Amino acid sequence: MLTLPTPKKDPFTFNAWVCRDCYDKHHSHPLDHEALAQDNRSETDLLKYLNDCALHDNTDSNTGAGINEYSTSECDGCRTFIAGTRYRLYCVQHPQA
Ligand SMILES: [Zn+2]
Repeated sequence: MLTLPTPKKDPFTFNAWVCRDCYDKHHSHPLDHEALAQDNRSETDLLKYLNDCALHDNTDSNTGAGINEYSTSECDGCRTFIAGTRYRLYCVQHPQA
């Protein structure tokens, strides 16, 4: 069971679906910089659109929940449309202080 952190104050929460590259970055996995360069992306592009959120893995590898094996929909992290697996991240955006 996924345990989510207790929010401090009225955060905005939502699920985002991200490509494998963004997912790898979230987990600090090694990145394929050559493939990224071919797509005109770099490490700093990954998760760029979720920069102001605290991100939490929201996948379950036992049930496959939160993992879409094949999708051509836009990655919420870097806005790529490159086909591939999409992973669900739980995002917590705190109001600006
Ligand atoms: Zn991405």
